[in-house]
Amino acid sequence: MKKLRLILGDQLNSKHSWFSKTDKNTIYCIFEMRQETDYVTHHIQKIVGFFAAMRNFANELEKENHQVIYFTINDTKNTQSLTDNLLLLIKEQQIEELEYLAPDEYRLDKQLNDFANTLSIPTHVYSTEHFYTEREELANFFKGKKQFLMENFYRNMRKKHQILMVNEQPEGGKWNYDASNRKKWKGDVLIPTEINFDNDVSDILDDVKKAGVKYIGKINAKYFEYPISRKQSVAQLHYFCKHLLIHFGDYQDAMHTDKIYLFHSRISFAMNTKMISPKEIVAYVLETYRQRESEIDISQVEGFIRQILGWREYMRGMYWHLMPTYKKENFLSNTNKLPDFFWTGNTKMNCLKNAIHNSLDNGYAHHIQRLMVTGNFALLAQVNPDEIDAWYLGIYVDALEWVQLPNTRGMSQFADGGKIATKPYVSSGSYISKMSNYCDSCAYKKAKKFEEDACPFNALYWNFLEEKQAQLSSNFRMKMMYSVLHKMSSTDRIKIKEKAAHILENIDAY
Ligand code: FAD
Ligand code: SF4
Repeated sequence: MKKLRLILGDQLNSKHSWFSKTDKNTIYCIFEMRQETDYVTHHIQKIVGFFAAMRNFANELEKENHQVIYFTINDTKNTQSLTDNLLLLIKEQQIEELEYLAPDEYRLDKQLNDFANTLSIPTHVYSTEHFYTEREELANFFKGKKQFLMENFYRNMRKKHQILMVNEQPEGGKWNYDASNRKKWKGDVLIPTEINFDNDVSDILDDVKKAGVKYIGKINAKYFEYPISRKQSVAQLHYFCKHLLIHFGDYQDAMHTDKIYLFHSRISFAMNTKMISPKEIVAYVLETYRQRESEIDISQVEGFIRQILGWREYMRGMYWHLMPTYKKENFLSNTNKLPDFFWTGNTKMNCLKNAIHNSLDNGYAHHIQRLMVTGNFALLAQVNPDEIDAWYLGIYVDALEWVQLPNTRGMSQFADGGKIATKPYVSSGSYISKMSNYCDSCAYKKAKKFEEDACPFNALYWNFLEEKQAQLSSNFRMKMMYSVLHKMSSTDRIKIKEKAAHILENIDAY
């Protein structure tokens, strides 16, 4: 049987069992497509990074004697549609069987499923052999439960895969070292120079420009920093373990004007394209820990493993459990427009300016910048979650809907009414000041509420609580904040309302 095997741009798993042997009757196909570049406006580094990784992957397969058909974005044969390209190859190559790897995004899963139903040849779907869990595993684990708590899922994953476990008990005596993952970085602990691969991707950038793809953000195409091959992905992991793991947990939530990445791994692009697997990453982190146990504290290691074994798998499970209706949820009925400065970084609020510039310049912001700066502000400004999703899905090199959507709509925006987070992640300027040096050089004063130079987060925070009382005041974890609000004088509450209204009406002047 002549077989066509589809590989999507985020399925670059060279360790997949598909590739363990060559077969002259099997053709692999990989397509760069307008369908994928245009479903949202992406960061240029994301488009170029994906294409570079896909081209390298195709070359590697060919070197190993697999047959590959690769359509570049400007290929004359390229229909720019996934299913039309497949149809074209099925006819042209007289294909008798189509095989594909289960897509991680609902949109592509549906497209391929619908397409398969129209074909007269057999179709088979295979696992990507990437994740720890299968799609439905999380929903099965929580069957019959009201709340799908990440912590319960994570503990189960630790037990199931025997990670940081001793005789069925958590190693070190604690499941979670979150409380010791909250240090502010003050420049006292040295951060080694970042690993950059200096890839020259100018030809790909030219192709993207020639195709007329709309994009956002900056790129230095002669020195592209992200890993774009399996070898570079492994090098990124090794670099992280050698130099950064030792302080990862401590400074996980820290932010600083001079340091974009601090002790973060920057492994998400390599992992989300599947050039490297979560299992490999966790195994290497554990190996490093065993070799340097006297030097590296368990809290650093657990803090990192929790992100991958816990959060990443949890988010994927929640996505598949809650889609497709999840994409429409708007529990807090937020309808405001996303401020223009999200697309330019042109704001006097120093925390937002830094987080947005990081995003526009590098296609990157770390978790706390995404959650407690941009996400926090967007929620306090009561922005429509559709606009927020489009921004997050476009701007980050690691953004794929299965991980972006539950993080944004769920964890960051509470638009699902608490399916993922037990309370909204909102804060006034005090949290940002506690975890960063942003406020020190800001045009606004973090301790002021109503004055012209008052930190806008403050009035927006109390106004948010005021306006969302109907939805939030019965939430147990919000009780304390509501009791503070209720103790405020009516004059102050009116002043907050007026100040917040002024901010929201003139948001791009702030
Ligand atoms: P590190 O801090 O070094 O963490 C290691 C790895 O843990 C990451 O590479 C990532 O794979 C995983 N991880 C950490 N937190 C999460 C999480 N909450 N969910 C899933 N995996 C996690 N991550 C994405 O991969 N794609 C997204 O589109 C994305 N969108 C986000 C949107 C919002 C609003 C928020 C709050 C978080 C989002 N995250 C997303 C999670 C997280 O911010 C990024 O994974 C992380 O910043 C990537 O940088 P890093 O590799 O240096 O991560
Ligand atoms: Fe951000 Fe407010 Fe601090 Fe300025 S004062 S950096 S706006 S939190």
